[in-house]
Amino acid sequence: MTDQELQILVEKISQESFRLPFCHKASFNRRLKTTGGRYHLNSHNLDFNQLVFEKYGEAELIKVIKHELCHYHLHLANRGYQHKDLEFKQLLKRTGGTRFAPPLAATVYQVYQCQKCQQEIKRRRRINTKRYVCGNCQGKLKFLKTIEA
Ligand SMILES: [Zn+2]
Ligand SMILES: [Zn+2]
Repeated sequence: MTDQELQILVEKISQESFRLPFCHKASFNRRLKTTGGRYHLNSHNLDFNQLVFEKYGEAELIKVIKHELCHYHLHLANRGYQHKDLEFKQLLKRTGGTRFAPPLAATVYQVYQCQKCQQEIKRRRRINTKRYVCGNCQGKLKFLKTIEA
């Protein structure tokens, strides 16, 4: 999904679920790690984490958009726009926004390779290559790289 498609989606949801226009900028921000989205109080722009869409699809992204639009519209209307505010909680419930973004942190894997049959082995934890051997051929394992998935 491109920034432009995101912008159109946010404008559409704002109209449909809030009956109010979204008149600022929505874009994906690669620097967001575990947050699904962010509302900027000063610029009124919205940032979204592309991983929400990549890992969970459009339906989940829409819920995150609704959450951020709750902050946006309440703040612009000088109402209680923070998580603790009753108005925020009520609007979130009414529009079907998500309270928490789904887990977004990437899982880190250690990749080892058998030096005999070249098979690659992925493990969450580091393994002792002196003690563990290839399950395929009993060959010696060598640490290859760390990946995020
Ligand atoms: Zn929030
Ligand atoms: Zn092997």
